[in-house]
Amino acid sequence: MKTYLRLLSFAQPIARFAIPYLLCTVLGVIFNTLNLALLAPLLITLFNNQAGDVMPRPENGWLDPTGMLNYYAQQANLHFGPHGALQVVCAVIVSSVLLSNIFKYFSQRIMENLRIHTLLNLRKRVFDNVMNMHVGYFSNQRKGDIIAKIASDVQAVQFSVTSTLQVVFKEPLQLIAYVFMLFATSVKLTLFAILVIPVSAFLISKIVKRLKEQAALAQHYFGLMISYLDEALTGIKIIKAFNATENIKAKFHSENIRYSDLGRKMAKRQQLSSPVSEFLGVTMVAIIVLYGGSLIIDNNSDLDVSKFVAYIGIFSQVMRPAKALTDSFSSIHAGIASGERVLELIDEKPEILDAPDAIDMTDFNDSIRLENVSFSYPTRPVLKSINITIPKGKTVALVGPSGGGKSTMMDLLPRFIDAEAGQVLIDGINVKKIKQESLWSMFGLVNQESMLFNDSIYQNIAFGSPGATMEQVEAAARIANAHEFIMETEEGYFSNIGDRGMKLSGGQKQRICIARAVLKNPPIMLLDEATSALDTESEKLVQEALNNLMKNRTSLVIAHRLSTIQNADIILVLEDGRVIEQGNHAKLIAHDGLYKRLIDMQQFTDV
Ligand code: ADP
Ligand code: MG
Repeated sequence: MKTYLRLLSFAQPIARFAIPYLLCTVLGVIFNTLNLALLAPLLITLFNNQAGDVMPRPENGWLDPTGMLNYYAQQANLHFGPHGALQVVCAVIVSSVLLSNIFKYFSQRIMENLRIHTLLNLRKRVFDNVMNMHVGYFSNQRKGDIIAKIASDVQAVQFSVTSTLQVVFKEPLQLIAYVFMLFATSVKLTLFAILVIPVSAFLISKIVKRLKEQAALAQHYFGLMISYLDEALTGIKIIKAFNATENIKAKFHSENIRYSDLGRKMAKRQQLSSPVSEFLGVTMVAIIVLYGGSLIIDNNSDLDVSKFVAYIGIFSQVMRPAKALTDSFSSIHAGIASGERVLELIDEKPEILDAPDAIDMTDFNDSIRLENVSFSYPTRPVLKSINITIPKGKTVALVGPSGGGKSTMMDLLPRFIDAEAGQVLIDGINVKKIKQESLWSMFGLVNQESMLFNDSIYQNIAFGSPGATMEQVEAAARIANAHEFIMETEEGYFSNIGDRGMKLSGGQKQRICIARAVLKNPPIMLLDEATSALDTESEKLVQEALNNLMKNRTSLVIAHRLSTIQNADIILVLEDGRVIEQGNHAKLIAHDGLYKRLIDMQQFTDV
């Protein structure tokens, strides 16, 4: 129930929908009930026209609606003759049906708008929240699960939670209207009927009980499937080259089977509730006919035949809203389960937030310092008591064996992760005291994996600088050594580069990434093995581009190219989470330590 209400809270402002909806629904229900009640006067005009005795007007007026309708039908009979009365009654029936359907239509439209509005809000909130999560969050999550939550769970909420809204508002009203009519027509029969209802309610609730957990599990399996799909599509070349297609197919298929099996089990229960309740409903009607009919046959009842037929008509309809309610309760479980998964994602709080007194940092003047910084992943410590200084305008190279913590250290500067102990200072200000957006605007990032988007070259370069002109983009591309190859593509800057830049070579991708960083023009550059995935030829071009990029900037570079490292102002040798050597190339060679050994082992490509 709590989940349901929270999901509903996304329908704000609900009053805009609720008031016209209630109005239309109430009117719709009234006319809908009238349609059935009009059965009695119809029968009166058809069969009662010879009867001599005039019916008195019912004493309690419209509290006895069938009585009143019968009375007016007979009056019409007396005034206009049987044919005239038949015409009147038919005209009334047609207008009532017309009105009830007009109101039904409007109430459904309003509800549909509400539903779409709710989902719009829900989807936005969920996506916004995911984008706001700290970077570390994503290394512990399955991407497919997040995708499934935003795509299919939100959809599931639509199909059950919001569609039950309609049921929840309308059907009880309709039920009350019917029950009122039943009591107004015959108290005795209705009391008898009410005894029978709880029995069917109990049976239905038994059936739908397990549906919720199954629904949650089903969405989880679906998330796994999306994960496999995502991995399979991203790694298609590797999969084929390693001849793993059959393996991957089998993995996906077994997940698919698991998901389908569960779907079948759920459908079995879900589908069962509808026929069971229908059967119970008809059985109840039969019991009423049996009981009420025998009362009439024995002349033991205050009902006449026309009223009894209208009574049965209405009673048979009572089951419809009752059935709609139970049906929607059986499907609401699936929706709630999905709703919980979506809310889980909405409730997830980023671990790295701006401090309340965080400031905007507009420029970089002095230095970056790490003081006694330590950091561990839950599984293992990575950085241990790091103390370094990166002065403005210098190039600092990070070298060391793989797994030593170089990338981790770099992630500390833009606060993708937070130091566990010690502090990271920019111009003497702790990064935790700087607004993240202004912090990020200080950095340009080029990684080993060039992250590009399926869009035009122009859009990819202008990615971090919306509003950049064509001239600026082109100038950045020239600096990044990218202009020539861009002009050789079919549509120049407006060529689409495919998923993750698939239509470009590695070196071309990297140069686009560099152009992107050049255009953003940040004071500090972070380069994490930006050339290590490249062949020698394109590496040269990229290296030139990088040199242009680092000119007049402060850079922290993780590199494997001797020339880059040699030219660095400061070289930090990181091993096992500690800075073990520090200095320029000549000094470290003279020191004859790990750096010298790495050089001798030709760890670095010497071009
Ligand atoms: P380098 O860049 O120097 O090769 P990294 O900084 O990437 O090394 O990694 C340092 C250590 O931290 C490695 O041993 C790696 O296994 C571990 N590590 C990196 N990322 C994570 C993560 N998201 N969760 C747990 N451990 C990680
Ligand atoms: Mg690394």
